[in-house]
Amino acid sequence: MEKERECEVAIVGGGITGTALLYMLSRYSSVRKIILLEKNRRFAEINSSSENNSQTLHFGDIETNYSFEKAKIVKEAAEMVVSYVKGRNRDLFRVTHKMVLAVGQEEVAELRDRYERFKALFPNLRLLGRKEIELLEPRVVAGREPGEEILALCSEDGYAVNFQKLSESFVLDSLKEEKEVEFLLSARVKEIRREKDFYLLVADEGLVRARAVAVAAGPHGLIFAQSLGYGTKSGILPISGGFYRAENVLRGKVYTMQVDKLPFAAIHGDPDVVDPRETRFGPTAKVLPLLERGSYRTFFDFLRTSAFTLDGVWSLLKIVSDWVILKYVIKNLAYDLPILGKWFFLRDARKIVPLLKYADLSYLRGVGGIRPQVVDTRTKKMEMGSAKIIGDKAIFNITPSPGASVCLKNAEEDAKMLVGFLGEGHRFKEDKFKEDFLAKINS
Ligand SMILES: Cc1cc2nc3c(=O)[nH]c(=O)nc-3n(C[C@H](O)[C@H](O)[C@H](O)COP(=O)(O)OP(=O)(O)OC[C@H]3O[C@@H](n4cnc5c(N)ncnc54)[C@H](O)[C@@H]3O)c2cc1C
Repeated sequence: MEKERECEVAIVGGGITGTALLYMLSRYSSVRKIILLEKNRRFAEINSSSENNSQTLHFGDIETNYSFEKAKIVKEAAEMVVSYVKGRNRDLFRVTHKMVLAVGQEEVAELRDRYERFKALFPNLRLLGRKEIELLEPRVVAGREPGEEILALCSEDGYAVNFQKLSESFVLDSLKEEKEVEFLLSARVKEIRREKDFYLLVADEGLVRARAVAVAAGPHGLIFAQSLGYGTKSGILPISGGFYRAENVLRGKVYTMQVDKLPFAAIHGDPDVVDPRETRFGPTAKVLPLLERGSYRTFFDFLRTSAFTLDGVWSLLKIVSDWVILKYVIKNLAYDLPILGKWFFLRDARKIVPLLKYADLSYLRGVGGIRPQVVDTRTKKMEMGSAKIIGDKAIFNITPSPGASVCLKNAEEDAKMLVGFLGEGHRFKEDKFKEDFLAKINS
């Protein structure tokens, strides 16, 4: 007979999204019994691992694809992370300068215009000309054609965050509350069943009976949602991102201007949060039919996310055949060619560091995750924002946007929703929450 556990809320997935929710629920809600199930032996080993993402706390100031409205929302979310990490162990984060670099007349004009529109929202943002950029980042200017116009938007408040350590910190903090918090590691959830007024989670570790469920299992969340009849008009376009490394090239984060139509960041150079002597360039963006990088068994999971339906196949083909995206896909495929691939990447990386040499770069094998880009199979278009499906007493987080930076804001929203699902007798502790977050943000 399989062991059966009971709880008020079950969380599936122990990445940054699931652990932030665990923290939020245990500290700021009246929910007493929470179980988190994670299929791996450790927390945050997939996209939230420090190796697999760009480690940037996005505020919307140097992300030139964000509208003013989106930047406002992301800024608020990122400030919550800052207020959490401030004063904590330094292995969680590092503060560096960060900039977005415009190269050439057209980009420079666009960036100037953006500065005017965004400066009220980001008062610490400064426009830097060639000389000032050189002082901060000598290698961005060295060797650049004197006639090439450059301009940067820069802030001293750039945060590089180790989202894996942050996840572990959320878990440890959740244990400090007087709650019944249980973690089941190496516990893959195979099925979620709706049974009268509760959910039954069938996992490697036995059965879990929960009054409400929050799935934070990345693209796998869509499979669970669809098995319960939700999100049936959504599919996933998995975009894997890889990185190259070089030694001691940049002192802070240097982003490039965003390509319109693309929902993910253009390549940038960042000092690694664990070893800042290493500069990571990337991420590349390659369409890959997997839900987890390096895990070939997830090919079959990918097929289950409506990739195998007529609408699903048609949507993916339609998106990828858009000329801007197709060009981007081909360029990124070219990065994989033996010997030549690194040359192609180098050409793009030289937009940031003109004197970068072939020998300076080495590909980081096995590093980088997959961004599950949600696709609407009715409109056959990518959904550009976050993707969350809400069911009856169930939440499915697929792509929090932008990724890990919004983990606490996303968790706040989910925690409030879950408290509402549980109904009478349950509440979100707004006063304590405001005291912890808003007071610190305003200080
Ligand atoms: C190349 C790249 C660069 C990025 N850069 C940034 C950045 O600079 N800043 C930023 O904010 N975001 C960035 N992101 C996005 C960010 O990494 C992700 O959005 C974020 O890590 C998602 O967290 P998550 O917890 O939702 O998913 P994950 O971290 O993937 O966690 C999901 C968890 O669910 C578990 N799981 C899956 N299925 C099951 C199951 N059946 N049963 C139990 N457990 C299960 C997995 O093992 C995993 O631990 C980047 C992503 C990529 C790929």
